[in-house]
Amino acid sequence: MEYESYYFVKFQKYPKITKKVLETEDKQLRSGGRTRRTATSSQNVPRVKKQTVQQPVSKTSSGSTAKPKSSTKESTRQNSDGADTLDQSNFGLTISGISKTGGDSSHPRKGQIIDFHKMIQDAVRVPPDGIPLNSLNSDPDPSERLLKPLSAFIGMTGEMRELAMVVSKDIYLHKPNVKWDDIIGLDTAKRLVKEAVVYPIKYPELFTGILSPWKGLLLYGPPGTGKTLLAKAVATECNTTFFNISASTIVSKWRGDSEKLVRVLFELARYHAPSTIFLDELESVMSQRGTAPGGEHEGSRRMKTELLVQMDGLARSDDLVFVLAASNLPWELDRAMLRRLEKRILVDLPSEEARRVMIQHWLPPLSKSGGVELRTELDYSLLSQETSGYSGSDIKLVCKEAAMRPVRKIFDALENHQPGNSNLAMIQLDTITTADFLDVITHTKPSAKNLSQKYTAWQREFESV
Ligand code: ADP
Repeated sequence: MEYESYYFVKFQKYPKITKKVLETEDKQLRSGGRTRRTATSSQNVPRVKKQTVQQPVSKTSSGSTAKPKSSTKESTRQNSDGADTLDQSNFGLTISGISKTGGDSSHPRKGQIIDFHKMIQDAVRVPPDGIPLNSLNSDPDPSERLLKPLSAFIGMTGEMRELAMVVSKDIYLHKPNVKWDDIIGLDTAKRLVKEAVVYPIKYPELFTGILSPWKGLLLYGPPGTGKTLLAKAVATECNTTFFNISASTIVSKWRGDSEKLVRVLFELARYHAPSTIFLDELESVMSQRGTAPGGEHEGSRRMKTELLVQMDGLARSDDLVFVLAASNLPWELDRAMLRRLEKRILVDLPSEEARRVMIQHWLPPLSKSGGVELRTELDYSLLSQETSGYSGSDIKLVCKEAAMRPVRKIFDALENHQPGNSNLAMIQLDTITTADFLDVITHTKPSAKNLSQKYTAWQREFESV
């Protein structure tokens, strides 16, 4: 059935599926005036006739995880005689018993049958790296958005298919699960992101003509301030397919093939639209071209060009695919890339109020983790003043470290305790105090304090609001 839907997408009609019959019946068929023709591709599918279908396709595929898209009846309802060609390499199917073109071999050889079972098994087969092609939609949770089977992905040659697997495995993020309320502070950034991406998806009729949605959005600011969280919230709240690609993914594994990877990524995003592509650490991928010491790597230059080409393609299309990029160093970005990221949003360090909420969130007066009670006595207002310049992730780190202190004290007791002698529940953890927290602060410096001037200067020059 996957083959059938692939065929339908590619040729706008259903394939005719028949089974090759025995030699004598074959002769009768031919003498009946209908000569089978195969198509003129180097690997072809045979012409087939409705009446001879004997093996119900739906039955064969029932053991697989494929989502049937149409009934067996539908699969045979069209009977056009057009000279369709199909490059099997696009689909990776091995159909046994199919003749090659040329000479007499344009007829199937005697006694050959189409192995439907194998065909369907191949369509849903598990590739060597162990991820079934349609693993993306095999999740049994009905509340989740089901993705179309990857095997119906158009124009997928063997190599592209492999890259599509990489994208699905390393880059496609199953369920980001970040809500707007999980992001503390950042009210302006949240509002701007909603206006730029969320509302166009929710109310597309409003966003036409001059209001047509932005296709590229840049979130910039100090590291650890919630840029990734914002992108994930977009994907969660809009229920879009989320592709998270960072420089490290590209560089570590796919340096040579990175431009193809980019192409496949955008293809897949269009295929699974509405989608969000999140390009993290953009400055590492799209630094100003030609500035790398010792000249730029050819592969990297090609990849940058491909990224620009794909972004242009998006800008011209109506596909609901949004590119969200994040950068800690926006001034290092390539100008051509910057032009395509029309909307730029500063995700700044948390305000004093946001810091207070964060500390309270991560270190509430009483929390329980793993059956252990953690108590705090903190002057949240004082601590929020003292953490000026700290990013969200810095504050989280400080909270973690502060919470670790009383736990550390009981390690000795735990290590010495004999099984049966004492009980974990008997051990009382010390309360975390304001002094503990302040002590941690003196040992943990903020990671991006002195860049804030630079961000605001860049904002004045480049932000479009
Ligand atoms: P970046 O801006 O570098 O993409 P992230 O969004 O990855 O930063 O944030 C890193 C971590 O810091 C998050 O996983 C989260 O735990 C914490 N954090 C940072 N900013 C916030 C925020 N505004 N609200 C809640 N958590 C935050």
